[in-house]
Amino acid sequence: MRLEVEGLTRAYGGQRAVDGLSFALEAGEIGCLLGPSGCGKTTALRCIAGFDRPDGGQISAAGEVLAGPGAFVPPERRRIGMVFQDYALFPHLDVFGNVSFGLRGLDRAARDARAREVLDLVGLGELAGRYPDELSGGQQQRVALARALAPRPRLVLLDEPFSSLDTEVRRRLAGDVRAALKREGATALLVTHDQQEAFAIADRIGVMRAGRLEQWDSAWRLYHSPATRFVADFVGDGAFIPGHVEGERRVATELGPVEGELTTPLASGARVDLLLRPDDIVVDAGSPLRTRILDKCFRGAQFMYTLALPSGERVLALVPSHEDHEVGGELGIRLETRHLVGFAREA
Ligand code: ATP
Repeated sequence: MRLEVEGLTRAYGGQRAVDGLSFALEAGEIGCLLGPSGCGKTTALRCIAGFDRPDGGQISAAGEVLAGPGAFVPPERRRIGMVFQDYALFPHLDVFGNVSFGLRGLDRAARDARAREVLDLVGLGELAGRYPDELSGGQQQRVALARALAPRPRLVLLDEPFSSLDTEVRRRLAGDVRAALKREGATALLVTHDQQEAFAIADRIGVMRAGRLEQWDSAWRLYHSPATRFVADFVGDGAFIPGHVEGERRVATELGPVEGELTTPLASGARVDLLLRPDDIVVDAGSPLRTRILDKCFRGAQFMYTLALPSGERVLALVPSHEDHEVGGELGIRLETRHLVGFAREA
């Protein structure tokens, strides 16, 4: 089912928590609103669910207006499934009871069959008789997802569903949740402040800042072609170094000319901050570009090095961890950029 949000605005005491938010999610797509704490993600989700009333704009599902000028469909009539951060399972019902709770409209056989189907979908078929307090956090969150999916909602909303789980469980569960949503063909919208989670689950991600959407795009494009400096900073690692534009495909910097298509056009001669991602920098012992190692962080397959250029500007480099270079030592680098991300230098 297609979800369309147009100009959604919600203010509290004159402050706009959500300010003119517009995006569309196609049927079967998984979207994500990503942004720092307080940017308005949860408020947007609550408006879509119907727990909160927008002050302006319109929300529609499959062409039906759920909220808009003169229209408000109450939450229980929106056919939306919710998965919350704190699972919100019924403690006095077992897993099977929790999942079949929303299926009371069906006859017994159909209800049992559907509950079994969604429990198998989330890999919990074996635990149907357990109670919530006999389950791990990750298992409880799977039950919450199965419960939300069981009545075949037109849209599933997930509000920071993994934030109370530890990192290892989060990673695995994020992949499993995506697989389950895709197998169901569900249209879903997640909110999170964790970009790894957004990358692991969503087809489309909207980066929010102070109630506004900065970019609604694929994870790849957010990373490689950020529309704003905020998105460039918020999504992925990297550092900006100063330079000036020397043509359509060339920026002069202290590392020499850097070549590649500029993702946003800038006038020749413009002073820019050029974004260098850790994967744009390759260690090359023979290179005349010498840097000093300020810091390093072991990430298993790679080290993330913080390097100082001769001017003192810093860049990050992601380097296979076969070689272990000392902090304080020198490292030769060269750049391998395919496209250039630069923003006009702020005064
Ligand atoms: P977090 O990740 O911390 O949950 P968020 O991006 O989900 O943040 P919201 O919860 O949507 O942000 O809040 C956005 C802004 O609106 C914040 O400044 C918050 O203080 C404010 N706000 C949210 N709900 C209310 C409310 N009921 N009354 C007054 N202000 C509110």
